[in-house]
Amino acid sequence: MPGLCDYRDNPWSLTPVECAFDIDVRRWQRRGLLIPETTFLAMWLTDRAGTASDRTASLKVRVVSANEVGLIYRVRMPGGPRWQQMDQRVSIVWHPCRYGGQRPWLLCPACARKVAVLYLGGASALSFSCRRCAKLKYDSQRSGPRLRLMRKAQKLRRQLGGSGSLWKPFPEKPSTMQWKKYERVKEMARKAEEEWASRLT
Ligand SMILES: [Zn+2]
Repeated sequence: MPGLCDYRDNPWSLTPVECAFDIDVRRWQRRGLLIPETTFLAMWLTDRAGTASDRTASLKVRVVSANEVGLIYRVRMPGGPRWQQMDQRVSIVWHPCRYGGQRPWLLCPACARKVAVLYLGGASALSFSCRRCAKLKYDSQRSGPRLRLMRKAQKLRRQLGGSGSLWKPFPEKPSTMQWKKYERVKEMARKAEEEWASRLT
């Protein structure tokens, strides 16, 4: 049955894999979403001040068959001018579990390795690939300059009432803020975002 898949444990805010959106085929199977010829929506949500949730990004998943899904999404490099419509096909393979049943694996579109999770937002910023191909690293980047730049840009966006997502359009000027201050904050954010984006590759 088509359904809604909420990513409350949003990698955007909760994991050190900076700015990486992930898809996890195990979750889809647990929720009974892998039914051929159906489509469901996957969303990443980010908490705003611990209360409301803000939709950071979403993609449509078309289950073509038991062995293939299509990922349909729009993506733009942070700070980049152009949104791109993507339709990426990913193969699924099934392996027997030890205690019966089968579990699905995704084949990384870049290296064909069998993985449970694919990431968007690493080196291959516009398409999904495994952690290795996306060159995502955990601990070594936690305090690295990339993360600091991202945090800085997120903080500046929140200062302007935005969600902190670098994948969203830049926040408009809050009505109570003077233009001069807005332009100054925007310029600081732009610099941080550009520098952060340049370090993604
Ligand atoms: Zn790979």
